[in-house]
Amino acid sequence: TQTIHIVGGGLAGSEAAWQIAESGHRAVLHEMRPVRGTEAHQGEGLAELVCSNSFRSDDAHGNAVGLLHQEMRTLGSLIMRAADAHQVPAGGALAVDREGFSAAVTAALENHPNVTIMREEISGLPPEEWGPCIVATGPLTAPGLAESIRELTGAESLAFFDAIAPIVHRESIDMDVAWFQSRYDKPGPGGTGADYLNCPMDREQYDAFVAALVGGEKIGFKQWEGTPYFDGCLPIEVMAERGPETLRHGPMKPVGLTNPRAPDRKPCAIVQLRQDNALGTLYNMVGFQTKLTYSEQVRIFRTIPGLEKAEFARLGGLHRNTYLDSPRLLDATLRLKARPALRFAGQITGCEGYVESAAVGLMAGRFAVAEAASAPLAPLPQTTALGALIAHITGGHVSAEEGGSGPRSFQPMNVNFGLFPPLERMPRGEAGRRLRGPEKAALKKRALTDRAREHLVAWMAGEQPVQAAAE
Ligand code: FAD
Repeated sequence: TQTIHIVGGGLAGSEAAWQIAESGHRAVLHEMRPVRGTEAHQGEGLAELVCSNSFRSDDAHGNAVGLLHQEMRTLGSLIMRAADAHQVPAGGALAVDREGFSAAVTAALENHPNVTIMREEISGLPPEEWGPCIVATGPLTAPGLAESIRELTGAESLAFFDAIAPIVHRESIDMDVAWFQSRYDKPGPGGTGADYLNCPMDREQYDAFVAALVGGEKIGFKQWEGTPYFDGCLPIEVMAERGPETLRHGPMKPVGLTNPRAPDRKPCAIVQLRQDNALGTLYNMVGFQTKLTYSEQVRIFRTIPGLEKAEFARLGGLHRNTYLDSPRLLDATLRLKARPALRFAGQITGCEGYVESAAVGLMAGRFAVAEAASAPLAPLPQTTALGALIAHITGGHVSAEEGGSGPRSFQPMNVNFGLFPPLERMPRGEAGRRLRGPEKAALKKRALTDRAREHLVAWMAGEQPVQAAAE
């Protein structure tokens, strides 16, 4: 057996340590909390969810992240096991009780005979005498290590901006105004079809709200000026600045919901809140990541009908994101080309999201195990969600010039069907009927996810699936 070190006990590092330990090798996990904190973590548990409590869609037939959930479960993921065990209702999504989830991951690793957990900051590059090491220190990598990585890779910059959404105490929400309902009454795993709290706005309230967001005082961020936003996590006020109707067509869209107190009057916009803990005492404001100052958040968000007396368990805020130019710097098994004993995992590789970070941790653990056993893994088919994600990060099997996934300017990304190679054959309706619109989209997703399942099974059996050329 070999000892493999992991720096960072977040989503990726915890999963990597688990995969290594389960394979019979020894994992030494170095986590700096509680010795040193980050701008976003609040506790000392492993795999702490720093913002939303959602793992997004759990639909393995119609959604790329749902497929990723399924593939991770198939490969014995600790993160998915703990998430499944600590679900809270959330429509079509898999959301978790964050405390229970983190406690379960921590206990599983603490109790594993092959895992040692060291609570310490690694403030420079991991020492060479450690041998193989996985760096999974996340978007908030402590500055000492971030600086050493920057020097080693020669990167000009490793950081950009992101923003998080506020959390409200449920008992402070006015239930004479708000109502429970999931969009289109969709029941998710463990859900009822009434999992979200909805706050309606008429046109006048909406217009005033948008104006307040645009005019509200924002946190100055001189030190990071010029660093770009990740488009999937735009602050609400930045969206509002894009145009008066943007929010009504984005996070505040009023579709699929009916106000039981005024069923005939369609609201102009709706603010949704999603259950944030198992007890149901906390609700987060969906899509309301923000860099407004705290006092402005309280003032402006209390103009939302139903939230006039809202008490906030946590306000939104700005945070740093640290990631590598992975397609240039990492090889196909996530090793740093300049120093192959170092492997990277999680958000620092330029994936985005809890699930994706854990997924890359899972693969980093498996790559490290394969290397320790001198038994390289067959390349993971890019037709699987895991393979598509790894290909996005490592530059893919096809260069950008050839239309592959190796982008010239690398941006963090959630897993999505756009990262999958096209289908060999477009699905057709009965008797070869050409399909259109939503029907075609659904069948295409079905075909992509069926192909992924088939290829994952083949890969696990040590085979390389043969992929026919695209039509
Ligand atoms: P983390 O989970 O952050 O784990 C890294 C660990 O490394 C931490 O425990 C940290 O304490 C430790 N560490 C750092 N430096 C050192 C060091 N030098 N020595 C030892 N230990 C160290 N994703 C979503 O899907 N949904 C969201 O709502 C969401 N919101 C986010 C909000 C914020 C504020 C941030 C920063 C990110 C958010 N993300 C979100 C993105 C991302 O999914 C999470 O950050 C995720 O936790 C990344 O997983 P990770 O394992 O790469 O890093």
